[in-house]
Amino acid sequence: MTPIPFLDLHKQYQAYHQEIQTAIQRVLDSSCFIGGSEVYALEEELSQYCGTPYTISCANGTDALRLALMALEVGPGDEVIVPDFTFVAPAEAVALCGATPVFADVSHTTFTVSASTIKSCISPKTKAVIAVSLFGQCSAMDSIQDLCNQHDLFLIEDAAQSFGSVYRQKKSGNLSLLATTSFFPSKPLGAFGDGGAVFCQDKELAQQIRLLANHGQTQRGRHEKIGFNSRLDALQAAVLRVKLQHLDHEIILRQNIAQDYNLAFQGIFKTPEILYEGQSVWAQYTLQHPQRDTICAQLKQRGIPTAIYYPEALRKQKAFTNQTVLQPKQNKYTDLLCSQVFSLPLHAYLSEYTQIEDEVHQIMRTLNETSGKNSEFSNP
Ligand SMILES: *Cc1c(COP(=O)(O)O)cnc(C)c1O
Repeated sequence: MTPIPFLDLHKQYQAYHQEIQTAIQRVLDSSCFIGGSEVYALEEELSQYCGTPYTISCANGTDALRLALMALEVGPGDEVIVPDFTFVAPAEAVALCGATPVFADVSHTTFTVSASTIKSCISPKTKAVIAVSLFGQCSAMDSIQDLCNQHDLFLIEDAAQSFGSVYRQKKSGNLSLLATTSFFPSKPLGAFGDGGAVFCQDKELAQQIRLLANHGQTQRGRHEKIGFNSRLDALQAAVLRVKLQHLDHEIILRQNIAQDYNLAFQGIFKTPEILYEGQSVWAQYTLQHPQRDTICAQLKQRGIPTAIYYPEALRKQKAFTNQTVLQPKQNKYTDLLCSQVFSLPLHAYLSEYTQIEDEVHQIMRTLNETSGKNSEFSNP
């Protein structure tokens, strides 16, 4: 059979083809390619969607994190707590500011950091926490915010994988002083290239971020700060405005597939757990199993792709081994997840999900027979 793509951006494009064409033509006709009314309109619409007072678009999600940290004046001598189990960008952004990332363990049921995993990483040098809303759901932000208040720490939500998600009736991106997102094509809200945004509750911080993203320039030829160039293209803004209109519908489609997967896989795998006070937009659908590598290899043979997010703890990556701070020696859930997780295809236009469920079931039956035992997941 023909392989199923892990992500099918083409089907999504076909669905909105007409609207996207019109939006792109509008930008071409205006010949205003960076900044301008299209970008401004997107920022307004993003603010409305999330409920945040200020949204500053930028070139990508990694820059968004860097801009947030720079605006908080995070620098050499500071420590910032980041998850050990996530994409590299949060730790990278901290290091690029000259500060030190300290890697917190995650929960093995929700895959996110919690107040208790963060707490054990706090030192007198800690200045901020980046809580990544992983695979589509937010961390338990209320208790994390309480902890940050107690210790006078800034809280940043990395909402690159959770744009559109809800936590206690509030949208992801609107849960902390600063939040960031990415519009990389495969994210819940994806552009036709790179893009990102910072969401902000504070007017002065928002002004700082805007300044930093445009060479620290207050007016043409006047540079108040050392910034850099991190702007969003008008073409990307136009595409994002179209896709934003369809996001809520796409989220429902994704949630339906995730529900179907959960029913199909419960008892065979440890299925993903969602906080009762939250929702997921299912940026990834991630299962755990001790025989992960065998299962993925067999799925591949049957034309079903899987992905491993994430195969190695960030604290063990060569890039971070020279960090001077004493890192946690053990993050036992991070290490367990790195060896056991795999993600199945899940997107709004996935029509083959029942076929995927059937193939997974067949593989698991054979695995159980050959191993002569019930190879049900093992709790750590
Ligand atoms: C994708 C991602 C980023 C970075 O986004 P880019 O736009 O690729 O720079 C940051 N954090 C998380 C958790 C991500 O998944």
